[in-house]
Amino acid sequence: MGKVLVIGCGGVAQVAIQKCAQNDAVFDEICIASRTVSKCDDLKKKIEAQGKSRSKITTAKVNADSVEDLIALIKSVKPDVVLNLALPYQDLTIMDACLACGVHYVDSANYEPEDTEDPEWRKIYEKRCKEQGFTAYFDYSWQWAYQKRFQDAGIMGILGTGFDPGVTSVFTAYALKHYFDQIDTIDILDCNGGDHGYPFATNFNPEINLREVSANGSYWENGHWVETKPMEIKREYNFEQVGMKDMYLLHHEEIESLAKNIPGVKRIRFFMTFGQSYLTHMKCLENVGMLRTDPVMFEGKEIVPIQFLKALLPDPASLGPRTVGKTNIGCIYTGTKDGKKRSIKIYNVCDHQECYKELGSQAISYTTGVPAMIGTMMVMTGQWKGAGVFNVEEFDPDPYMEALNKWGLPWVVDENPVMVD
Ligand code: NDP
Repeated sequence: MGKVLVIGCGGVAQVAIQKCAQNDAVFDEICIASRTVSKCDDLKKKIEAQGKSRSKITTAKVNADSVEDLIALIKSVKPDVVLNLALPYQDLTIMDACLACGVHYVDSANYEPEDTEDPEWRKIYEKRCKEQGFTAYFDYSWQWAYQKRFQDAGIMGILGTGFDPGVTSVFTAYALKHYFDQIDTIDILDCNGGDHGYPFATNFNPEINLREVSANGSYWENGHWVETKPMEIKREYNFEQVGMKDMYLLHHEEIESLAKNIPGVKRIRFFMTFGQSYLTHMKCLENVGMLRTDPVMFEGKEIVPIQFLKALLPDPASLGPRTVGKTNIGCIYTGTKDGKKRSIKIYNVCDHQECYKELGSQAISYTTGVPAMIGTMMVMTGQWKGAGVFNVEEFDPDPYMEALNKWGLPWVVDENPVMVD
């Protein structure tokens, strides 16, 4: 049916690409392009050696920080859709290149600058903190600003088709379509009950992950943001197939888009589970300055502490063989249907070892990479259509929900869920 160009070949991309190759009726050509081309070549070899996919696979080297490089690549590959699974730092350069070439764009995380000390960016950031009331380094304003240009070019930008954001946002559209006339509250619960046996490691890119979890928390209530100190709000929850876990309120990007796209929603919160040992390690690293994102001089050379830390920590893509246990990610909704109050929970449980057996990866990359393929498929097949930039809750959730069941992330609706206070 069509050709996808995937940018990045890390933990998430490796799952998305293998899933595209399984779905060869839709993705008959896949070009894998990244900074380290050997990773792309290794993955191509692995898929071809299995001999199960009819997708034609090619590879390329690209510097996704350079719009010129990206334009040259897109012009030579001529894809129908570009799937960005590099880092949030590259969102805008890749969107610029898609605009210049008139090609659809899909990603799994919203824009964040690599250098948060950049004075130009900082000015806009500080204004946004004051006006909006949350201080996270990432927000949708940068990508939503492409709306008119994408519309004029007649192309689609699908923002945030991972698990959260992504599946959690589609769950919300599904809840609104089939279970509620009005959604009042949304609690997004992200539980990783997996154990990799290391004293400390992150499940996806350490730099992005540690930036996210060491930042202030926030939630949306009655039309505005309420900001908290990092890890200030803690709850316990008994997750189906995982058990009792501590979870903490974080700021998360889908709160911003759901607050805009779900009419009349009164409160949206996001919780993620962390063990005490993870939090103690993180606090210690933060206290000694290892989470700093600005360059410091070391023996006559500039280094960025969090990037140095990334070099020391296990590569998330290598956690697959050693991670056991399950993830349970989903959303609890309250609201009304036909004048009656109701509450439901929609969630998926994913087993780390099952993911490893199928694709050689752990469940965090799996639960992100599968929806990245599905979002791209929605564009490729025309099941989702439009011109402009969109968050995934803006489309018909039904074909996406059906695809989750088919491609490895089956979901459950619980009409009598345990609530979070
Ligand atoms: P990794 O660090 O494992 O992979 C990133 C890939 O991008 C690597 O292959 C890297 O190349 C490549 N890359 C980085 N910079 C450039 C560049 N300038 N030019 C070309 N290629 C580049 O990250 P993950 O796979 O863990 O995460 C990928 C994305 O998924 C991130 O944006 C992350 O935020 C998002 N994510 C979303 C989730 C969701 O649920 N929505 C959950 C988890 C992650 P190299 O191999 O050389 O390092």
